[in-house]
Amino acid sequence: MTVTASSGPELMPSTMIYLDHNATTAPAPEVIAAMLPVLSGLWANPSSQHGPGQDARRALNIARATVARMLGCKPVEVIFTSGATEANHLAVRGLLAAGRQTRRRVLFGSVEHASHLRLARTLVDVGLQVDLMPVRRNGTLDLDAAAALIGPEVALVSLMAANNETGVLMPVAQVAALAQAAGVLLHVDATQLIGKLPFQFASFGADAVSLSAHKFHGPKGIGALLLRQGVPCQPQMPGSQERSRRAGTENLPGIVGMATALELCGDVSAEAVRLTGLRDALEHGLSRALPDTHIWCQQVPRLPGTSYLRFGQVPADVVLQRLQRLGVAASSGAACSSEGSKPSHVLTAMGVSADEALAAVRLSLGRSSTQADISSLLNTLPALLQPLLREELMTAP
Ligand code: PMP
Repeated sequence: MTVTASSGPELMPSTMIYLDHNATTAPAPEVIAAMLPVLSGLWANPSSQHGPGQDARRALNIARATVARMLGCKPVEVIFTSGATEANHLAVRGLLAAGRQTRRRVLFGSVEHASHLRLARTLVDVGLQVDLMPVRRNGTLDLDAAAALIGPEVALVSLMAANNETGVLMPVAQVAALAQAAGVLLHVDATQLIGKLPFQFASFGADAVSLSAHKFHGPKGIGALLLRQGVPCQPQMPGSQERSRRAGTENLPGIVGMATALELCGDVSAEAVRLTGLRDALEHGLSRALPDTHIWCQQVPRLPGTSYLRFGQVPADVVLQRLQRLGVAASSGAACSSEGSKPSHVLTAMGVSADEALAAVRLSLGRSSTQADISSLLNTLPALLQPLLREELMTAP
């Protein structure tokens, strides 16, 4: 069956203001251009001994070297996976299975990605003790509590570098020092950090780091676990690829796409400054036009383009409908399920009430964001929200 743009689902309109970069990003045109010849020409299996197979192998080696150079690690430290979820699983299960069987305790951040917290629960089922490291009301890790938990009976600490909802940066260097002092392995989920802020594996302090290409304008279905050389990690899918650490024929188009996407990010510092400026202008403008705007985590170090806010207690789905009307794509902080929306576990961990959490809207800016997007939003959104906020005032008890 031929699926064309006209017979398939609607394509993203070019006028759309996309403020959901923490969910995913568009593959860069350069990434698509780098992947197409791999899809059409370099389709042989990199493990095959014949010429086409060896051509694919050479392309794989080059892409691996590029990824390693951009991320400040050695090529042997890169294990390609299907994304961050798999990298997180490989790190936690693989590191636990390979070492320290005498240590039965594992620590996770309490505001990790929902899929990661589900993984944490499966560890309890196999008899490990899992403790969550709490966050403070401002969204940062409670370092005192973490220090009290990290001890000689702990096998592994798994912590995110930056939160996908609040954008808050976690104190990885301090936790790495605590972990090292106690002889504890450290895995960091850097899915939201890489591509947004400077990152070098060699100086990061973690034994293992997860990343995902679709968060930095690469393709979906490809990511990596960076694993410090010499740290044993048991493969979860045994096979000969990736030095027997991850089985399955390599996703060469995805790997080449990810390498290209990382090269395109280059030195992220200038883009980080640009996005911080746009985000701050957006927050300032919204707070001025709508005094009932509450912005979470504004006083602590955050990802450059992430803003997590609520307008009074106007439910997030109502705000998102208004945004949709304006051609703006954004997300709520609530997890949607068949039973309806549940307050974000991140905000709940920060001590935010359910009513306030259900009003949470995340605006995440990125490469496509412009000053014109921010001006357009500031010119239109307040007028759409003011009547709702007035209504809220009238019905307040
Ligand atoms: N961790 C974090 C912090 C994330 O934001 C995401 C994606 N939302 C993931 C893990 C999962 O990444 P992937 O889609 O590559 O499996």
